[in-house]
Amino acid sequence: MMDIKTYLYNTLTKQVDEFVPNEPGKVAMYTCGPTVYHYAHIGNLRSYIMEDVLEKYLRFVGYDVKRVMNITDVGHLTSDGDTGEDKMLKGAKREHKTVMDIARFYTDAFMADCEKLSIKKPDVVEPATNCIPEFIHMIEVLLEKGYAYVSGENVYFDTSKLDNYYVLSSQKEEELQVGVRDDVDEDTNKKNKTDFVLWFTKSKFDNQELKWDSPWGVGYPGWHIECSCISMKHLGEYMDIHCGGVDNIFPHHTNEIAQSESYTGHKWCNYWFHVNHLNTKNGKMSKSKGEFLTVSLLEEKGYNPMAYRFFCLQSHYRKPLEFSWEALDNVVTAYDKLVKRIANLTEEGTVDSSACEEYEKKFAGALANDMNTSSAITVLYDMLKAALSDASKRHLVARFDEVLSLNLTKAWENGESAVDDDLSAYVEGKIAERAAAKKAKDFATADAIREELASQGIVLKDTREGTLWEKQ
Ligand code: AMP
Ligand code: ZN
Repeated sequence: MMDIKTYLYNTLTKQVDEFVPNEPGKVAMYTCGPTVYHYAHIGNLRSYIMEDVLEKYLRFVGYDVKRVMNITDVGHLTSDGDTGEDKMLKGAKREHKTVMDIARFYTDAFMADCEKLSIKKPDVVEPATNCIPEFIHMIEVLLEKGYAYVSGENVYFDTSKLDNYYVLSSQKEEELQVGVRDDVDEDTNKKNKTDFVLWFTKSKFDNQELKWDSPWGVGYPGWHIECSCISMKHLGEYMDIHCGGVDNIFPHHTNEIAQSESYTGHKWCNYWFHVNHLNTKNGKMSKSKGEFLTVSLLEEKGYNPMAYRFFCLQSHYRKPLEFSWEALDNVVTAYDKLVKRIANLTEEGTVDSSACEEYEKKFAGALANDMNTSSAITVLYDMLKAALSDASKRHLVARFDEVLSLNLTKAWENGESAVDDDLSAYVEGKIAERAAAKKAKDFATADAIREELASQGIVLKDTREGTLWEKQ
């Protein structure tokens, strides 16, 4: 284990806490997986990218991580407040296919997108439809313990039985009732507004395709129960980190805590890691609204998915991130420049292990500070500029890329030829001359240098990080 303390913002305590797992050296980690009724949009994938960095960081500093993810293939209705249509059924109708066909197709599509973005597959990936007996068992225990009730032939969790239902949020109840507020036909079977469905038997939809026998009649599970059961099936009754997007805080994660802790009778998960949203200028990116941006669409437009990963890593996971093609273009240029810079590293010199250890500590230190990925990238840039042998730099790039997963080592692995050093030196020299001319307010010379380079197919781009160039 690296001798380092990790600090993470914890939605449960609403502060940055030192991360101390239940068992020394081991981390039990759970991620809410996708609802597989459509392609994942790049907003969903922002969450998975940042969770992937967290997992890889924990492994980097020496933890033995077990990560579990569910696949939601039943029970997630169009409103998180348990109303509307089952999203899977909606997807099946849209495409004139069966629910299971839709689930299989979009699970595979999700995994393919993750692979393109170098998101590691969790150790366990479990579809909800695999675990019906586990859901039924948990619901039976909740009924026995008096935390649940049957009403109108559905089973509900009784939120009034808890001292503090809103453990994850400090917002006022009314502000949180998004799902309920949007509800045109409020469910009159509920005793309390915040109660939620554990098992549906009286579906409003006669054509609900997937149904199972249960002690309460033929039906299907609610959405929240799947994450409580699937995590406990593979991680036991105690968990270290639970992840998801911020929209999952309420009601999904709030309900997961309610049912899991009522079931076990003790605290369940110590750290809650939530990734903020990717927005467009019109607001939160979602599957139902606006331009539906997928990894395939990025590729169709000629973008390397790695550029999108780099885009995400440059900002902090707790801040909203606004997507624009312009912003992505800037990242592409910076990414290509970085890859070229790395491709130019030779195998010369020896690996200076004590200097490398220092840099690894700096890199881990940036991430240990509540996953500050942009600082970690700065450590990478600083290291590339430092007076170290190329061999040491190669070693460190490979180590850092275990966490960043930006395909930074691909040039050496593929045996690609490095960028022509002479060309690089020539262009960098011209860029410096142009900067000096601009500083001296000699804009004619500055423009002439740009045009001279353009005539050789070299395009300059002025960015906040300085002038970047590309050979076309
Ligand atoms: P879903 O497939 O709708 O269940 O969502 C999968 C994951 O993506 C969940 O963790 C959501 O919280 C997260 N998510 C949804 N929309 C966004 C967004 N615009 N930006 C970041 N994460 C999101
Ligand atoms: Zn979940």
